[in-house]
Amino acid sequence: MSKISFFKNVERNFDKAAKYTQLHEGLLAQIKVCNSVYEMRFPVRVNGEYKVIEAYRVQHSHHRMPTKGGIRFSSNVNQDEVMALAALMTYKCAIVDVPFGGAKGGVRINPFALDEVSLQSITRRYTTELIRKKFIGPGIDVPAPDYGTGEREMAWILDTYQAFHHGEVDAVACVTGKPVNQNGIRGRTEATGRGVYYGIREALSFEEDVKALGLQPGIGGKTMIVQGLGNVGSYASRIAIEEGGAKLIGVAEYEGSVYNENGIDVDALLEYRKEHKTILGFPGAISSKDNKKILEEECDILIPAALESQITQENAGRIKAKIIAEAANGPVTPEAEDILSAKGVMIIPDMYINAGGVTVSYFEWLKNLSHIRFGRMDKRFNNNTYRNLVGLVERLTGKTIEEREKEFLTRGADEIDLVRSGLEETMITSYNHIRETKKSIKQIETLRTAAFVTALNKVRNDYLSLGIFP
Ligand code: NAD
Repeated sequence: MSKISFFKNVERNFDKAAKYTQLHEGLLAQIKVCNSVYEMRFPVRVNGEYKVIEAYRVQHSHHRMPTKGGIRFSSNVNQDEVMALAALMTYKCAIVDVPFGGAKGGVRINPFALDEVSLQSITRRYTTELIRKKFIGPGIDVPAPDYGTGEREMAWILDTYQAFHHGEVDAVACVTGKPVNQNGIRGRTEATGRGVYYGIREALSFEEDVKALGLQPGIGGKTMIVQGLGNVGSYASRIAIEEGGAKLIGVAEYEGSVYNENGIDVDALLEYRKEHKTILGFPGAISSKDNKKILEEECDILIPAALESQITQENAGRIKAKIIAEAANGPVTPEAEDILSAKGVMIIPDMYINAGGVTVSYFEWLKNLSHIRFGRMDKRFNNNTYRNLVGLVERLTGKTIEEREKEFLTRGADEIDLVRSGLEETMITSYNHIRETKKSIKQIETLRTAAFVTALNKVRNDYLSLGIFP
């Protein structure tokens, strides 16, 4: 796995799309490279021992500021991986019209093998290194969670940043994905998974596209297999089941896989894993210690939501899913995509389908800069206006509307309603842009190439309008 260069894979996909953009070669080269790569080593005390920690922050593109991207804690972190993830962030932001350049951070540790005290020391020291080099700040570079990190780490980052920026009024906008009680936003934790759901639902709504896959339109009743039941995988499955009526039949985790053709209850499985420290033996399901084979089972939608390079030329030929939704970043290698596309599999690319996280991070950043919760100013006003309208309808018709219906019709939007609605709008609009690009250029074969072309055209517009300094 380590032999596959993730960054080269991103470049390969970039090159495939570049020829449809009519962009000057020099400009393409500028868009493609990583603008700043910061590699660092710092000492931390873990259980009384000195440890040297290897870490990175890469800012791929400064065409829009601040740059934005998650921080990954994993023992596989390396410069190539962080560069690839940073590049994907640039294209992702462009696709969903989030006005940021792409960035990514990585710390080479196994977070699951470290206690909370050590993790906090590492997170705070990493943040301090970023502060020292001006690689973090509300208008400079804004991290967020990724694999192995979550709101707990984001709160530590915020606290460290604030310690060094006492009195800076916008300091809380230096990081997103924070706990709600620490200036986070409702709906951020579920955002990437929810976005995956909206994206799949939209892709399945076009009769012409879906029929070509031998499926009926709509997500209801579709079978799903998910790899990785972490933040993204668990929310994507839960929401697809609860709101879309899909059926989860298989789950792959680190320790193995479980399969049940009658459906798997995500929450019960997560509860079981918490208690038994494994998904194996989950009641009613077939368990296997092999966590890769299950990706090859018959299903409508395969959702790789763990790490990159999971579907390669080695196993692509055996994949039977009709749709692959790349919830993780880079789970399908370019060679595998060639094999799958030849078989007619629809791949909904990472840079679109997992963009829900950065979209809601953008909403959080806006909330932080405006220093007010969304909905606070207008919720009651709307509520009163709708109540007056309903009252007027009742008086004019002489009929009474039931209290439950009245409540539904007159409620003003809370922050969570606005965040979900903004995310839904973003995922629908962006999918349609990508689909239109694919339809307008007949030679484009995949949604990934169409997504890249869409992104490159938007980044190009910035360069052309701004010019090049000096
Ligand atoms: P996470 O740490 O919450 O969950 C990842 C899960 O994958 C864990 O449960 C882990 O045990 C499991 N896993 C690891 N290796 C596995 C393997 N070989 N087989 C099966 N399962 C395995 O991470 P996350 O935040 O859910 O991120 C998952 C992916 O989604 C990453 O590629 C990340 O870059 C991408 N992503 C995350 C976000 C976000 O907001 N968190 C946003 C965009 C993209």
